[in-house]
Amino acid sequence: MLLVKNGRVLDPASKTDAAMDVLLDGETIREVAPAGKIAAPQNVEIFDATRLIVAPGFIDIHAHLREPGQESSETIESGTQAAARGGFTAVCCMPNTKPVNDNASVTRFIVDRAKAHGSVRVWPIGAASVGSKGEAIAEIAAMKDAGVVAVSDDGKPIATAKLARQVMEYCRSLNLSVIEHAEDVSLAAGAVMREGVTSTRLGLRGMPAAAESVCVARDVQLAELTGARLHVAHLSAKASLEQVRSAKSKRLHVTCEVTPHHFTLIDEDVTYDSRFKMNPPLAAREDREALLAGLADGTVDAIATDHAPHEPALKDVEFDKAPFGILGFETALSLALEQLVDTGRISLMRMVELFTAGPARVLGMERRIGAGQPADLTIFSLDHSWTYKVKESASKSRNSPFDGRTFKGAPLATIVAGKIVYKH
Ligand SMILES: [Zn+2]
Repeated sequence: MLLVKNGRVLDPASKTDAAMDVLLDGETIREVAPAGKIAAPQNVEIFDATRLIVAPGFIDIHAHLREPGQESSETIESGTQAAARGGFTAVCCMPNTKPVNDNASVTRFIVDRAKAHGSVRVWPIGAASVGSKGEAIAEIAAMKDAGVVAVSDDGKPIATAKLARQVMEYCRSLNLSVIEHAEDVSLAAGAVMREGVTSTRLGLRGMPAAAESVCVARDVQLAELTGARLHVAHLSAKASLEQVRSAKSKRLHVTCEVTPHHFTLIDEDVTYDSRFKMNPPLAAREDREALLAGLADGTVDAIATDHAPHEPALKDVEFDKAPFGILGFETALSLALEQLVDTGRISLMRMVELFTAGPARVLGMERRIGAGQPADLTIFSLDHSWTYKVKESASKSRNSPFDGRTFKGAPLATIVAGKIVYKH
């Protein structure tokens, strides 16, 4: 048993914000009570959380763990260690591995590896189409039985409206979210950053915001047609956000996530350094302003990292040739505190919601601190000052534009199923 004592418990699901003790008994929460009110059983381990925030376990609904197939960039073991350091107790891994997670045997491999080597929970996302090729629908029901929590062809969009409709109809009957990497590939072809003054100045091929929002428009209409649950991944453009907002006002089952890099950086920050290359690319200043507004007003459901490790041999090349993507786990909470909370854009409670109850809702789950719930907690400090040194990352890769950045606030302990899997 583990008693987390005297922390400031912040639980968006129950709107709790108070000094509480939380008693964990094996894999579940046994009791939650005002600080000092739980009679500690004998031999209980004590975690003193005085002056710290105790939140429900953070969930990252968008990550790439690269296993199977690209273990030189990341493994389930290294990736979940990095996730634990970032305060995440559960991560959803995208299916664009080698082979693609498009059938139950790959799903089972991931689930088994995670059980054997994972520091945190791993919830796989299955491919929407076979090989994510956009032709035939994948074996979604069999993958669901094996453990997938949603489907996506992430890395690319579901290729055609016809297939997207079919996937949505199927997923509606299975009650799974369809997670869309929204991109019109004809508008994005050959582009390496957002189209604008900066792409012109750098002489790099840019894609317009419409490369994303055109696809969001298609999918929102298909969600309306099918009644399916659509989740827009790594939403970066103002026009996409407006469509999600309007879909929500019509009570469609449409949700979206925003990454820390998109709410922190913009296209003007891009240099020829490939650590600024990701997809969707860093957007315009007005897009970032819209995302900040959406994070505040409830249009955005979750903060998700899109943790995308690439080993140095792949990523440390010319901007044009480098793969898209950056590390995300270890800096997500600190960036959210810095950009969203410390600036007064959102409350601490809302930030915790974006990492917990919000992503859980997207997956049709719930996440809260209460008796009988899974013993997953994220414990963090608001004033711990630290510098991110990517060479010390638990990830096998080093591709972060935030290397060397100093932060105020950090995860200090991560508890999964009653076990402390990370402690500062
Ligand atoms: Zn994507």
